[in-house]
Amino acid sequence: MTSVGQIHSVETCGTVDGPGIRFVIFTEGCPLRCLYCHNPDCRNFTSGKQTTVDDLITEIQKYKSYISSSGGVTVSGGEPLMQPEFVKEIFRRCHELHLHTALDTSGYADLQVAKSVLEYVDLVLLDIKSFDPLTYVKVTSVSIEPTLALATYLSEINKPTWIRFVLVPQLTDAPHNIEGLAKFVSNLKNVEKVEILPFHKMGEYKWEKLGFDYQLKDTPIPTPEAIQQAVDIFSSYGLKVQ
Ligand code: SF4
Repeated sequence: MTSVGQIHSVETCGTVDGPGIRFVIFTEGCPLRCLYCHNPDCRNFTSGKQTTVDDLITEIQKYKSYISSSGGVTVSGGEPLMQPEFVKEIFRRCHELHLHTALDTSGYADLQVAKSVLEYVDLVLLDIKSFDPLTYVKVTSVSIEPTLALATYLSEINKPTWIRFVLVPQLTDAPHNIEGLAKFVSNLKNVEKVEILPFHKMGEYKWEKLGFDYQLKDTPIPTPEAIQQAVDIFSSYGLKVQ
């Protein structure tokens, strides 16, 4: 029987969530409460729409000629690992179609549960929201430990991984925070690159619409100099940065 899951939406020709042109599935439900989240409407597991893996695969096949050469399928969210059976089945079916698979995750999940999904994942986009534990809690409302455990496991199994870090002035930009992350990541043997994502406010209107308190109203976007400083810190640890 086909697996059923809860999704927010799909993007048929995504270009920012993994290599090449990608079919991106945004799942519903996230245990984190990131202050800068641009998808706050993905928080609740009960919103969005129910769909089956069969339906998604039928849709994906329509785009196979665009995505099969250098792109593939990415499952993002929300937090995809909240629906492990559903997501695993999507990836398994994509592999049957010889499509590259990428998982975009915060890493906040039970490691044993994540392991079974990772069997069918070619690339992990691991969002590490901060390194300083207190800053991590302030940004996300949850602990950093599961994310670090997943990062370490990914290195042990040598799973290709891109690390993503959102640079937020006055929140995640403290040099010791970035430096701690750079040092940790430089000790992993599977990381192909680090993506620094400058904070933006494109999701602010969604917070207002949902009646949530957007605490970063007065936070500026990072200056080019601040972005360069973060690039320099990661680079100084021998990491490829984008
Ligand atoms: S992990 Fe992603 S979807 Fe979840 S709250 Fe953070 S930014 Fe939003």
